[in-house]
Amino acid sequence: MSASKNHHLDTLLMHTGMAPFDPATGAAPVALPSVRTSTVRFESLDALAKARATQLAGDRGVTYGRIGMQTHEALESVVCALESAERCFLAPSGLSAMTLSVMALLGAGDHMLVSDSVYGPMRYLDKTVLKRMSIDVTYSRATVADLEPLLRPETRVLYVESPGSLLFEMLDIPALAQFARKHNLLLVTDNTWGSGYLYRPLELGAHVSVMAGTKYIGGHSDLMLGAVVANDADVIARLNQTHYAMGYSISADDAWLALRGVRTLPIRLRQHAQNALRVCQYLAGRDDVVKIFHPAWPGDPGHALWQRDCHGSNGMMAVELKLTPAQAETFVNALTLFGIGFSWGGYESLVQLIEPGAIAVHSYWSKSDNAIVRLHIGLEDPADLIADIQQALAVAGK
Ligand SMILES: *Cc1c(COP(=O)(O)O)cnc(C)c1O
Repeated sequence: MSASKNHHLDTLLMHTGMAPFDPATGAAPVALPSVRTSTVRFESLDALAKARATQLAGDRGVTYGRIGMQTHEALESVVCALESAERCFLAPSGLSAMTLSVMALLGAGDHMLVSDSVYGPMRYLDKTVLKRMSIDVTYSRATVADLEPLLRPETRVLYVESPGSLLFEMLDIPALAQFARKHNLLLVTDNTWGSGYLYRPLELGAHVSVMAGTKYIGGHSDLMLGAVVANDADVIARLNQTHYAMGYSISADDAWLALRGVRTLPIRLRQHAQNALRVCQYLAGRDDVVKIFHPAWPGDPGHALWQRDCHGSNGMMAVELKLTPAQAETFVNALTLFGIGFSWGGYESLVQLIEPGAIAVHSYWSKSDNAIVRLHIGLEDPADLIADIQQALAVAGK
């Protein structure tokens, strides 16, 4: 038996990309092994010609190891199942998935609109490589009313991330998709927060969804991975061409780790989400907590959009604390269960002290002198995490 699109996503996720039966023995392992290769060996020139023809037709034909064999293909099919996509292109990091989408869809002289709460390194890509390639970028609050006056004849792409990277601002993706279609733009969304399971931008009208598999797909803080998915044939053709031309490639072992990780994505996300809400509840009762940024929390300004468009939540949140910068540093250093570090999506809790400059560019942010910390709530017992936050706030407040 195999799962079909009529099954729940959880079922589909467990049954996509399994190892096929050996025709000789009728047996198979459950999980595909890591199929590592550089050279692909062909039985005959005919077989090679067939693979090359498939590749030239824009389909998945493997003539060389760079785009990967069965393990990669299985991971691509799993990401497609998650995102309701036709095609998936793997990249060696989330950031490289972003660059793949931008390089595939833009050329010299083009203009791109970008939501101002986008993942920070997009601005570095813009300042360095895109400038040099004469691709112009404008950042804005991503609402139709704010974007409309910024349109130019050469605007080709609207690139957004929802929720935003640091304060988790929810965007109205269906409205932005309608806006993009009206003005002949391609809508690209960074869906790392949703990882395909919580949020499915292609179903909401986006043309391209990009994600860092490094985060919840991998789920164990042990690999770097990116993916770009699409449904539109022209967009797929452009992604395919650029992916091949630029040599984006990931190791079979990383694809294997991602496949292993992704099978538990639904239960991990449910637990992260439940733990995060427990922490929100605790924080909301404290006098030194000014604001909680977490779309699943009823007090968050994006809560209604989250309820309408998302299928669950995760462990990401930010919190504004009535602490001086020095006290905030004491707080972060006093935490014992939260690792100080970038990234998120693994099983462990993390804390990041947000630099004021990093959120000053978010139009949604009303300036304040309070400290902001971003927390990734991991799979530890939430009572232990809360006790840790409580003791660290006590140390900081002394
Ligand atoms: C982490 C992250 C990326 C980049 O992913 P890497 O694998 O670290 O390169 C892109 N977008 C968002 C929203 C992220 O959180």
